[in-house]
Amino acid sequence: MDEKRKIEKVYGFPEILTEKKAHFCPGCSHGIMTKVISEAIGEMGLEDSSIGVYGAGCAAIMYDYINIKGVAAPPGGAVGIATGIKSAGKGSLVFAYQGEGDLFYGLSSLIGAGVRGEGITIICENNLNMGISGGAMSPATPVGVMTTTSPQGRHIASHGAPVSIAEILKDIKGIKYIARCSTHSPGAVRKTKSIIKKAFELQLYGEGTAFIEVLGMCPTNMHLTPVEAALKIREVYGELQTGEIKHP
Ligand code: SF4
Repeated sequence: MDEKRKIEKVYGFPEILTEKKAHFCPGCSHGIMTKVISEAIGEMGLEDSSIGVYGAGCAAIMYDYINIKGVAAPPGGAVGIATGIKSAGKGSLVFAYQGEGDLFYGLSSLIGAGVRGEGITIICENNLNMGISGGAMSPATPVGVMTTTSPQGRHIASHGAPVSIAEILKDIKGIKYIARCSTHSPGAVRKTKSIIKKAFELQLYGEGTAFIEVLGMCPTNMHLTPVEAALKIREVYGELQTGEIKHP
């Protein structure tokens, strides 16, 4: 063997990801997002200046896995708390991470932060149901998707049409950056990381509020295997506008 041969490290465990055993179910996108956010912060060298605010429900314990300053918020409170932290701690990168059920609980504070153009990044993991209440239908649950409160699948006549989160925020002028991405495949995860890094960069340049919707798998409440859940998310993703929806 050529001793002079150089071995280049191309992949490794993100340094700020703790080695604690995660509580997420197998195939859950919160685990994927924990790693994606850790990598983004580490690659940007923001370990010491980042503060994460984690929403209620399954997302809450993310603070235990990412070794940065963090706060676990009560239901619907993540954006309001992130706003307060950002206002108090100049120079920090502040992000809120929530599931879509929790985000809808706190929609008024999200709209308020967007109207004021607060310099925070909001990452919403949309897994098509309210994991926080054991898998009930969320406002974003697509037509036909079964949940505990729509056991025959969402039906417009009975449940109303689903809300597209990214689109309802588009007209708010202080929200400068809106993107929709996904976690259903390795390529989609890479794209998600680049979008998150761009949103963080915009925050550092003072470019108002950024909102990223990330479609994700919840195999447990979808009653699907991890692979089936990823295929379902790919199907839903294919029906929506994806990538950057609004940028400065
Ligand atoms: S219930 Fe769903 S969202 Fe919660 S940890 Fe399990 S797979 Fe993830």
